[in-house]
Amino acid sequence: MVNGKAALTREDFCDGLGDCLPACPTGAITFEMREAPAYDEKAVEEAKGIPMAVAKGPGGFTSKDGALAQWPVQIRLIPTKAPYYDGKGLLIAADCAAYASGSFHDMFMKGRTTVIGCPKLDPVDYTEKLAAIISSNDITDVTVVGMEVPCCSGLTKAAESAVKMSGKNIPIKKVTLSSRGGVL
Ligand code: SF4
Repeated sequence: MVNGKAALTREDFCDGLGDCLPACPTGAITFEMREAPAYDEKAVEEAKGIPMAVAKGPGGFTSKDGALAQWPVQIRLIPTKAPYYDGKGLLIAADCAAYASGSFHDMFMKGRTTVIGCPKLDPVDYTEKLAAIISSNDITDVTVVGMEVPCCSGLTKAAESAVKMSGKNIPIKKVTLSSRGGVL
């Protein structure tokens, strides 16, 4: 309420659900069709005094902010050039790695741009796309995290070939995880 009247103080607090329409006793709220800022869930939670680090969702599940800095994350979907690559390390991770390691976000993703793929099931060779990403952006270093199973070795090979193909002289760190998430 602002000066006794209902007011939408910030447009990014509105998710467009329309739940307020029948709740208004005087029918004073209407929808206006125009471009508006995107709904910002984090801003809403902060305004309600709920720490976003741990918030309860439908069904009682608790969620915690992750370290993913951009979307999309799949190698096949991610753009070749984007500002979020610049000045940071690139993490190239096997799809299974984040499920094996409980501390994957803290250990590997924090401060890096993350891209993921499965060298066994994805019907592509990532080398060219990764080389294009590395050569087109100001990436400081590459970390590749694969699983110990033989099917995953293709990811490390693709990352190594991509760094070579990019022509950039940047360090590449290779990490292998056990199926229980330990670093081997
Ligand atoms: S290659 Fe095997 S271990 Fe690696 S992401 Fe694919 S299914 Fe998982």
